[in-house]
Amino acid sequence: MKQLRNFTEDQVNHFLNRWFMDANVCHCDTCRMDVAAIMLNNLEQKYVVTDEGALYAQLGEFDPQHKVDFVTIMNQAAKIVNDAPRH
Ligand SMILES: [Zn+2]
Repeated sequence: MKQLRNFTEDQVNHFLNRWFMDANVCHCDTCRMDVAAIMLNNLEQKYVVTDEGALYAQLGEFDPQHKVDFVTIMNQAAKIVNDAPRH
């Protein structure tokens, strides 16, 4: 079964699973999802067709530069959420 996936969204979720606890922001579900939404709005979206369940394995480890970029974007998003938390 093929499925259409937003690869950027999977990358952001994968990233947040590992590094959201480092963000200087409330860690409740609402704030986490707001951070994810802001990150996604600031990243180029990349859609892929993949076999069901196959994508996660492709995500693998973040290369260091990629991680730095995501940390920067996450911190910008965390600041926005901190200024106007919705929880
Ligand atoms: Zn919160």
